[in-house]
Amino acid sequence: MARAFDVIVVGVGSMGASTCWHLAGRGLKVLGLEQGPIPNPEASFAGLTRAIRLSYAEHPDYVPLLRGAYKGWEVLEQECGEELLRLTGALYMGPPDGELMSGSSRSAKEHGLPHTLHTHAELQKNWPQFRLPESFQGLYEDRAGYLLSERAVQAYVNGARQYGADLRGGQLATDWTVSDTGVRVRVGPDEYVAQHLVITAGAWAGKLLEGLNVPLRITRQVIGWVTPAQPDQFTADRFPVWVIDGNNGEGVYYGFPVTPDGSGGEGLKLALHWPGREVDPDTVERGMVLGDDRDIQDALSRFIPQATGPVVSQKVCLYANTADGHFIVDQHPESSRVSLACGFSGHGFKFASVMGEVLADLATKGKTDWPIGFLGLSRFLY
Ligand SMILES: Cc1cc2nc3c(=O)[nH]c(=O)nc-3n(C[C@H](O)[C@H](O)[C@H](O)COP(=O)(O)OP(=O)(O)OC[C@H]3O[C@@H](n4cnc5c(N)ncnc54)[C@H](O)[C@@H]3O)c2cc1C
Repeated sequence: MARAFDVIVVGVGSMGASTCWHLAGRGLKVLGLEQGPIPNPEASFAGLTRAIRLSYAEHPDYVPLLRGAYKGWEVLEQECGEELLRLTGALYMGPPDGELMSGSSRSAKEHGLPHTLHTHAELQKNWPQFRLPESFQGLYEDRAGYLLSERAVQAYVNGARQYGADLRGGQLATDWTVSDTGVRVRVGPDEYVAQHLVITAGAWAGKLLEGLNVPLRITRQVIGWVTPAQPDQFTADRFPVWVIDGNNGEGVYYGFPVTPDGSGGEGLKLALHWPGREVDPDTVERGMVLGDDRDIQDALSRFIPQATGPVVSQKVCLYANTADGHFIVDQHPESSRVSLACGFSGHGFKFASVMGEVLADLATKGKTDWPIGFLGLSRFLY
């Protein structure tokens, strides 16, 4: 017989774990279904750390959500008693008319965010670890840094379970249906019933949202760690989270300070933020292949020559890209009993804390006060 819940969450990853935590914290009977183990090392939060920024180059409309996200992470830290958010500051560098610099300064100005602008000479003086073209300028903000993403998801999972959520690994949801009385979700021979369904299936979301006509392009992304000759030059007291608009309009390089306690991995972590090769999430090559370190080596040799050296470890992760690079967070057009959040396009993790709240609102009230209108499905459907 089908077992009944208030809400079923399909995909207990970044967004799903937070959603389960918020829902269970509100006293709802929650079932979280996850195809892999919980947490799943193949989910898109893997690789230890994720950057969090406030002067958001992607669009100023994200800033109110980001303010909520920062608060959400602080609440989680207090609840679990663990440090998850490290504010190291972040430095954005590039040509002043490029998307990174113009977008960051637009967000900072529109939302009155504290920041400082830096000439090329100031950049070279303050952060001599970088070697930059003379045309580059910089924007620095204090209230940015990184999240310990794997620990954060684990904290949401632990907290949700403490609130009574039933989170199950090894449960591949293959199908769902909706009726006037509720939703049914199929997992192999079993069927689960609830009042509401939340789909937070990351790179696999397209498989559960067929017919919606919102193609997600799934791409293989590689993160690498190198060991600089002088690691103390790259610790957070002198080397912040950084982003460089230096790939001729094809994405930005970004990276993190060295974490002496190893919580962010061994060495200096960096990558290129730009969709990689399109893949199927079920058959993607998760191991290393020849050429995987090319972008990382390019970034090092061009912009951080002091840190040049072999890539000592790598991690493959997936982006779920929308056509415009903005997220999809909405109710399903066929039924307000189904909510979804997907297409985080390589910049979504930092929002997981607030997205859990948004999705819990949609599931329980059918609406949210958070400004998510610009992330709606209608931009693709009409
Ligand atoms: C290399 C890389 C670097 C990134 N850097 C940053 C960064 O610095 N800052 C930032 O903010 N963001 C960053 N991101 C983006 C961010 O990590 C993702 O946007 C975010 O993790 C996506 O969350 P999600 O919940 O949509 O997907 P996931 O966290 O992948 O969760 C989806 C879960 O659903 C499960 N699932 C899927 N289908 C089913 C099914 N049918 N049944 C049951 N379970 C299912 C999956 O197994 C998975 O656990 C990066 C991403 C990558 C790959």
